[in-house]
Amino acid sequence: MLPLPKFRWEAPSRLDAALELLERGNRGRVSDQGDVAARRGPVLPVAGGTDLVPNLKHRLITPEMLVSLSKLSDEHLRGVRDERDGIRIGALTSLSEAAGDPLLEAYFPALAKGYRLVASPQIRNMGTVGGNLCLDTRCTYYNQTSFWRQALGYCLKREGTQCHVVLGGTRCVAASSSDGATLLMALGAEARLQRDGGDRWLPVEKLFLGEGRRNLAIDASELVTEIRLPRPAPGLRTAYQKLRLREAIDFPALSVAVALELDEEGLCRSLCIVVSSLGAKPRVVAGLERMAAGKELDGKVIDEITKHAYRQCQPLTNIPLDTEWRHEMVPVFVRRGLLEALGRSPGPETA
Ligand SMILES: Cc1cc2nc3c(=O)[nH]c(=O)nc-3n(C[C@H](O)[C@H](O)[C@H](O)COP(=O)(O)OP(=O)(O)OC[C@H]3O[C@@H](n4cnc5c(N)ncnc54)[C@H](O)[C@@H]3O)c2cc1C
Ligand code: SF4
Repeated sequence: MLPLPKFRWEAPSRLDAALELLERGNRGRVSDQGDVAARRGPVLPVAGGTDLVPNLKHRLITPEMLVSLSKLSDEHLRGVRDERDGIRIGALTSLSEAAGDPLLEAYFPALAKGYRLVASPQIRNMGTVGGNLCLDTRCTYYNQTSFWRQALGYCLKREGTQCHVVLGGTRCVAASSSDGATLLMALGAEARLQRDGGDRWLPVEKLFLGEGRRNLAIDASELVTEIRLPRPAPGLRTAYQKLRLREAIDFPALSVAVALELDEEGLCRSLCIVVSSLGAKPRVVAGLERMAAGKELDGKVIDEITKHAYRQCQPLTNIPLDTEWRHEMVPVFVRRGLLEALGRSPGPETA
C-alpha cells in the first residue's frame, strides 16, 4: 500500500474561508517556471479526491496543505439550476448526480452520458463536476510511483529534465483526460472562477493551455465554483463517443464530443466537434463551417468531415495504447458521434 505524504488539512464550511486559505497560502509562492509542483503552489484544493489522492500517493504533488471543499455549504456550489442566463451546474455536484439530472438529460443528453461514462459508480459518487473539469493531465511515463519514475530519471513534468514522449521536447504533452471538459467545450460552456476578492467567468475553451505540466489557465488561489451552459438553441443535437480499453472504468484513450444545430429543413446550421485525450488540451476540429454549414449531413459530407478530423488529430505515445491504432480510431469515432447526434444508426463502418 502506498502511504500518503504528510500535509496539513483544513475543511472550512464557507467558500470565503476556503478562498482566504488558498490566497494566504499561495500568495507569492507560485512560479510559472519549472515542474508541476512549482506551478501549483503549496496549498491545493481537494473536492472528491478521486484524482488528487492517487497523485499524492505517487508523490506527483507534495503540498503543504489541502483545503477540502467537501463541507462547503454555499448554495451555488451544488446542483443543476435553470437560471435566466443559462443552465448552471455547481462545481461540487457529484458526477452521479449530474449523470442522472433530468434537466441535463433533457437539454444536453450527451453531457449526462459523458458523466455516466466516467470511471466507476463509486468514483462517480465521490468525484465532482469541478474536480473533473480541473483534472490533471495524464501520461504513461508520469502516472506511476516515484520508484518507477526514478528508473527513467523522472521527466519534465516532475523532477526531471526530459520528456519521454517527445524526445528533445521542451513542453509536456501529457493528455487531457477529462470526459466533462471535452463536452463542456463543445457546448460552449463557461466556468465561474472565484478567488479572495475576485470573481470572473471564462469560456471553458480558454480554460486550457497546451502544456501538460499545468494545463489550466487559472490561478493557484482560484476555484471553479460553477459552470454555465447557454440555453440550447432550437435544433441542437449532442453526442459523445469514448474509446477505452475497459468499459467499466478506464480513462478515455480518445474522446469525441459533437454539438450541431439543424434548421427546420434538416440542414446544418452549425457544427462543433471536440476531440480529446490526444494532447494537453481538448482540440476543436477547425474548418468545419465550410464543410457542413447549410448542407445536409449525408454520407458524403460525413466522410469528408471524418477525413478532415483524421488529418488534424494526431495521438502521441502519452497513453499506453498503440498510437497508430488510436489515430485510425479518430474517423471511426467522429463518424459515430455525428450519427449519434443525427439519431441514425452507425451501420457498418466505412471510415
Ligand atoms: C480508476 C479511475 C478511473 C477514472 N476514470 C476517469 C474517466 O474515465 N474520465 C474522467 O474524466 N475522469 C476519470 N477519473 C478521474 C476522476 O475520478 C474524475 O475526473 C473526477 O471527476 C475528479 O473529481 P474530484 O472531485 O474527485 O477531483 P479531485 O481529485 O478532488 O481534484 C482533481 C483536481 O482538481 C482540483 N480541483 C478540484 N476541485 C476544484 C475546483 N472546484 N476548482 C479548482 N480546482 C479544483 C484539485 O486540486 C485537483 O488538482 C478516474 C479516476 C480513477 C481513480
Ligand atoms: S508528456 Fe513527457 S514531460 Fe509530460 S508527463 Fe509525459 S513524459 Fe513527462
